[in-house]
Amino acid sequence: MRPDTPADHIAEAERLERTAGLYPEDAEQLLLQAAAHLELAGERDRATTLYDRLLAPDAQHPPAAPTLIRALKAANLWEYGHEAEARAIIDGVRAAAPRDPAPWVIVAESLESHDELPQAQETFTEAVELLLPPSDTTGTPSYEQRPLLFGRHRVRRLLGAPHDAWDALADEVSTSPIPLDELHDPKRIWSLGSNNPAELRAEISRIQAELGSYREALSRPFPVAVLHWPSTELEELLTAYPSLESEYPSHEAHLATIESSLRELAASGTPNLGIVTGTVPSYEAFAASEGTEPTDVSLLPQYATTLAARGRAVGWPPRGDAACWCGSGRGYGGCHGGGTS
Ligand SMILES: [Zn+2]
Ligand SMILES: [Zn+2]
Repeated sequence: MRPDTPADHIAEAERLERTAGLYPEDAEQLLLQAAAHLELAGERDRATTLYDRLLAPDAQHPPAAPTLIRALKAANLWEYGHEAEARAIIDGVRAAAPRDPAPWVIVAESLESHDELPQAQETFTEAVELLLPPSDTTGTPSYEQRPLLFGRHRVRRLLGAPHDAWDALADEVSTSPIPLDELHDPKRIWSLGSNNPAELRAEISRIQAELGSYREALSRPFPVAVLHWPSTELEELLTAYPSLESEYPSHEAHLATIESSLRELAASGTPNLGIVTGTVPSYEAFAASEGTEPTDVSLLPQYATTLAARGRAVGWPPRGDAACWCGSGRGYGGCHGGGTS
């Protein structure tokens, strides 16, 4: 289920907060997701309360990613008028120089969205210089690092800065169907404005869409996940609950269904897909926490969603020649990724 109205987002946030109480070891992931739903519902002050709770010095578990939480808190604060506080937190995030690209992207985009382009550029550049392999080497930036290069390219194009080596690298690693130079072309953005406001608006909304889709991926780090049972777990599940055989006629069919469902979701434009792996004991515990029996088939998708919200999803499809998600040990292309039409 994908929540859409503010009320849906609030209900989902509250469900995630309850789930966080059941799984304290995953509370950080769950509460960050809850905060994202509160932001989407426009309940920004409640989101701030959650960020503060995660950052509280007397929290039971110190946060695993405090800088990421501070970055999200700053971006959220600035969105509802707390500019000075947001700026102070952003300065702190930059000074902390995190090794994770995500907090850098969040604070740089927050500056960018409030028209602080020179500061946004400085922030992206600091991050790129800190995290990426030197631009005169053949090192390839990771998928997590690329948004830094793309964001930097976009801001520098908006500022009219000439390309440097990092910009060239951004162009090189971009897989967008529209080349970055066209997408971020400042002539199309600024000079068209004077004689054709409609085209200016169209260009700006295109860039905002690019930014928006990345933001969405960031604020919803939990994919739409499909449930996978490894063969030994499925065997154990069906031995304990034979009525579930209607759902899972064979392990081979189960694996084929996972791949085809994900391809259908991808074809329908669903971003951020993933696979979660079930185990019988955790499924039984989940059924008990929901006050129902493991034989209740409506529980299976809820179990998958909850595992994903606990940060247990692995992104699909596997990148490049990475191992197949099914655990066969073969490359994805030679396994379930084969036969792509
Ligand atoms: Zn370029
Ligand atoms: Zn496979």
